[in-house]
Amino acid sequence: MSALYDRVALIGLGLIAGSMALAMRRGGLAGEIVGTARSAETRGVAVEIGLCDRVVETAAEAVMDADLVVLAVPVGAMTAVAEEIGPKLKPGATVTDVGSVKRHVIGAVAPFVPDGVHFIPGHPLAGTEHSGPRSGFAELFENRWCLLIPDADTDPGALQRLRALWEAMGANVETMDADHHDLVLAVTSHAPHLIAYTMVGVADDMRRVTDQEVIKYSAAGFRDFTRIAASDPTMWRDVFLTNKDATLEILGRFTEELFALQRAIRTGDGAHLFEYFTHTRDIRRGIIEAGQDTDAPNFGRGAVKE
Ligand code: NAP
Repeated sequence: MSALYDRVALIGLGLIAGSMALAMRRGGLAGEIVGTARSAETRGVAVEIGLCDRVVETAAEAVMDADLVVLAVPVGAMTAVAEEIGPKLKPGATVTDVGSVKRHVIGAVAPFVPDGVHFIPGHPLAGTEHSGPRSGFAELFENRWCLLIPDADTDPGALQRLRALWEAMGANVETMDADHHDLVLAVTSHAPHLIAYTMVGVADDMRRVTDQEVIKYSAAGFRDFTRIAASDPTMWRDVFLTNKDATLEILGRFTEELFALQRAIRTGDGAHLFEYFTHTRDIRRGIIEAGQDTDAPNFGRGAVKE
């Protein structure tokens, strides 16, 4: 495929930007990839493993003459980066981001994007619990969703080009409104992460009592929680601080349901528990029937102890 952008600037060189660099290289999607990261250490690793064509010291330097600028830093760092690059952006360029929260990022970045530069926020729904410049891989976005957040003024040509880039990196692209995105992600990702963090914290307290048993007998359910709870602390702190309302809304509902289940257990209301679990099992079946997940036991990862 011929290059979709002559020069792409990656600001931040972690899991997401690193995977983008590798996917773009694999597909020949960018004429040149210029990258930068906050620390000399990360920039050094990027040079060592040949992640980009060029690694530069500052974001302002990286965006010079770039046709596409990708902000791939934690959500809480977006304002400072946008302020730094704003005056250096090339007229006609597109700025996008990969942040996990959208309304906050729009408020943080849009004021620094000059007229004549297109700002199209984005969010690939793909990731792992690993971070840093060595964690990326070209296949990360394959068959995963990437949500783009245009508004009424978005240039259709710029949107189409960005969509084509994500599709060429293997993603399925949908457009969505920022507030809707933040609510959907609060349900599907943000609240579940908080629940996993909490469960691992509770188990850690228990471990002091039960002498390593929690880890020793750790089976599917808890093991999956520990994987999620190993996710990057900076990224997730920023997600909760910037998607506060939607996350609190979902956690409020979660707490109500939890209390109802707690009461059913206390009062021995087996019918309630059975009905609830039957309903949730139906939801899982619906996901499989829609072809959105595998029916293989333990997601095809082999047998578990229980
Ligand atoms: P990552 O692997 O931790 O990489 C983050 C990059 O941002 C690093 O290069 C880091 O530089 C740089 N950075 C950190 N703090 C900074 C600051 N204050 N100013 C400037 N640069 C800073 O993170 P990631 O997983 O790629 O996540 C990047 C973005 O993608 C985040 O907004 C996140 O919400 C979003 N996202 C993540 C996932 C996921 O599952 N990981 C999925 C979808 C979207 P140093 O290494 O030099 O510190």
